[in-house]
Amino acid sequence: MNNNNSEKRILEKTLDDLSFVRSAPKIGLVILSIFYLASYFAMPFLVNSHFAVDYNGTTIGIDSFAGVLSSIFNIFAIFLTLYYGDVGFSISTVVLLLNIPMIISNIMRNHNLGNISGVFTTLVTILTLIVIYINNKKIERYQDKLMKQAVTDILTGLPNRFACAELVEDLIKKNQQFTMLSINLNGFNDINDTMGFDIGNEVLMEISSKWKLIADMEVSGTLDFIARLGGDEFALVIRKYRNQNELMNTVNMYRDVLGYKLLIQDYEIQVSASYGYVEFPSGAKDVDSIFSYSNKAMLRAKESKEDNAIMCFDEEMLIDRHVTEIENEIKAALQNNTIFYSLQPQFDMNHKLRGFEALARMKDKKGNIISPGEFIPIAEKEGLIDKVDLVVFKKAAKFVGKLIQESGSDFTLSINISVKHLMKKHFLDELKDILDASDLPPHNLEIEITESIMIESVEKAFKCIGDLKAMGIQIAIDDFGTGYSSLSYLFNFPATMLKVDKSFIDKMNNSDSSRKYVATIISLGHIMGIDVLAEGVESDEQLETLRSIGCDYIQGYIWGKPLNDMEAREVILNTVNE
Ligand code: C2E
Ligand code: CA
Ligand code: CA
Repeated sequence: MNNNNSEKRILEKTLDDLSFVRSAPKIGLVILSIFYLASYFAMPFLVNSHFAVDYNGTTIGIDSFAGVLSSIFNIFAIFLTLYYGDVGFSISTVVLLLNIPMIISNIMRNHNLGNISGVFTTLVTILTLIVIYINNKKIERYQDKLMKQAVTDILTGLPNRFACAELVEDLIKKNQQFTMLSINLNGFNDINDTMGFDIGNEVLMEISSKWKLIADMEVSGTLDFIARLGGDEFALVIRKYRNQNELMNTVNMYRDVLGYKLLIQDYEIQVSASYGYVEFPSGAKDVDSIFSYSNKAMLRAKESKEDNAIMCFDEEMLIDRHVTEIENEIKAALQNNTIFYSLQPQFDMNHKLRGFEALARMKDKKGNIISPGEFIPIAEKEGLIDKVDLVVFKKAAKFVGKLIQESGSDFTLSINISVKHLMKKHFLDELKDILDASDLPPHNLEIEITESIMIESVEKAFKCIGDLKAMGIQIAIDDFGTGYSSLSYLFNFPATMLKVDKSFIDKMNNSDSSRKYVATIISLGHIMGIDVLAEGVESDEQLETLRSIGCDYIQGYIWGKPLNDMEAREVILNTVNE
């Protein structure tokens, strides 16, 4: 609804600008009026009046007071026209015109031509009034046009989002019953892409004009307001229905419009739409929620993939769909055995291969890759992480074990294990089973545990890690630097590798303190007899800095992105042949 607010602000600003246009001649007229007054004050001194008063020895013609009165009168007339439009203009002009015979009769009676200036001033004033009047009319027309443009969609001539929001806001304020229907055309982009924008526009105009006819003719029996919100999005506000039946009759009348083919430039085009609605009063209490709830219902209707599907808003629609969707994707992937892995190489500082880290990969039903950053946290939350970890481990161990045997070279396979998983009773047994079933020697396996999660559950984790270590398995602390491990905890922890988090490597060359931080971690690791690997190394500059501060290993796009089996095999064979 931000869109609406900004439209409102634009409109208000434009109106402000307009009021400046209006006040500009006002200011000029005030100055003009002062001149009038001044001239009237000066007049009596110039004209020899018939009747005169003696003021400190000076003779002042009594006519001058009539002049003052008349000039005040003129100013009134100006302001009347300025502020009271047509009525003000008519009154002022009539009164001023009546003024002229009065002045003339005065001249005749007194045989004094001095008053002729009064006639002149009155005529000038009338002329000024006419100018103001014409100017005001122009501004009014401009303002009307602007108001209309601000609330009308240019392409279809329907009211726009702003107008619709104004209406909804008004109805909510008055607590009047209404239903808001969100309408979105299906496959409209395809029409634009395949037939061109002209045809797309004509489709929109044709549908709009049919809907507008229903609304304007009030054929539905209810009071309807149809608006185009933008693109292929429309909204229908329905009022004055007595029951659900009447409401649905109206809705169906608009849906029926899309039941027929449209004939556009000799093409027969069939368009369908998705509809979602919300009633007021109900769950939605303000303009934003009315728009967003009807939109949510519309999106649900769209998901059904049926032509002209319609959905009523339900509170359940507010639950985060994303999490449930991904959870379902993970379950489906586990069931269909479609979770797989990528292998990202790790190197020592001389570019000699150390091994690979297995990174989980998953595709959704449409075949798009979902990043582990997205699905791993959901798998952890929903208790599915053990299964994901194990699938990755099992598959990667099988491949890498075979590769080690084939190539006769010695390198590491690092796998990520969630601490939640690590602390499960069966973890060690499962791990042994997998190692037994693959050709992977335990000392070629490294288990990565994320620092921040590990320190929360350190006691329980210690025991399990001790067992792993006893089997010859290596232990890496992942994302090191992001948690707050204490020194004593680090000294007691049987890690064999610290992996410095990418965020520090990113900052390292921009700030001296970050560089010192990484240098300190490296020294700390070395003091404890632990190797240090820098994650996410991307540039030569970072590589040089890491070399200069004694880093042992790196992993990053600079020397290797995550690879598939074939690519990983090639890396190994190249290493062996070197
Ligand atoms: P991580 O363990 O810290 O893995 C490193 C991540 O950094 C990977 O992202 C990797 O592709 C990315 N990366 C490596 N080098 C570079 C680089 O030079 N530049 C950039 N921009 N990125 C780089 P990915 O594969 O998206 O994994 C994200 C996280 O998901 C992992 O972070 C890990 O915490 C988690 N994860 C991945 N696979 C598994 C798994 O099988 N089990 C569990 N429990 N967690 C996993
Ligand atoms: Ca990792
Ligand atoms: Ca990491």
